[in-house]
Amino acid sequence: MAMPENVRGRPVIDTGRCPDGCRACADACPTDAILVDGGPGSARIDLGRCVFCRDCVEGCPEGAITYGRDHRMASRTREDLALSEGVKLAAALERKMLKLLGRSLKLRHVSAGDCSACTAELQALGNVVFDLARFGVQFVASPRHADGLVVTGPVTQNMRLALEKTWKAVASPRLVIAVGACAISGGPFRGLSAVHDGVESVVPVDLFVPGCPPHPLTLLDGLLRLLGRIEDSPR
Ligand code: SF4
Ligand code: SF4
Repeated sequence: MAMPENVRGRPVIDTGRCPDGCRACADACPTDAILVDGGPGSARIDLGRCVFCRDCVEGCPEGAITYGRDHRMASRTREDLALSEGVKLAAALERKMLKLLGRSLKLRHVSAGDCSACTAELQALGNVVFDLARFGVQFVASPRHADGLVVTGPVTQNMRLALEKTWKAVASPRLVIAVGACAISGGPFRGLSAVHDGVESVVPVDLFVPGCPPHPLTLLDGLLRLLGRIEDSPR
């Protein structure tokens, strides 16, 4: 299935076009998603912070940043979202977990202060286009019935305890999937005193799905990679 033309895929920086000392894209970025920390040509985008606003595209005088059509962005570790060569796509769960969860995965959604856009895209996974249930993945109403959590939002102070309690209510071994820039890093709310800058500061995370919000194809790709249904491939 192809990404719709009006949807932004994974951003790419052509660092060969970056003049020495230029920080125009980093200065234009509202979420500090562009890292220029290793000298000339070192610029890279942290997909865990990017909100896909295009301010960097407008702010780069060299036209070095473009948005492609690649929907694949989910990674197993936070570090893998900010590589100079794009992103390291999620590897499958270890064999024991795959045996337990690979054919029937039940997930409980926790909205930890999201704006509802990530929630809407999660709900779209259940429609006739994506039909997540055909892969054996279903959302359930109780953490007691779940194998893991899908968390959206930056984890507000008011939701921290609820997230911790919900996580503890899922039997081990349990998965946690952070969906959207807010859940991965705090997104546009990063650094505010009322939020915890993402899920990882509260509970361990097994899959990071970038976007603001992520397209259902990005979510589906990440889930199927986690379940070993799509082979890992280099970027
Ligand atoms: S598109 Fe992403 S990297 Fe570019 S300015 Fe917006 S948040 Fe920053
Ligand atoms: S990542 Fe973007 S779409 Fe998702 S909750 Fe945060 S602001 Fe909303």
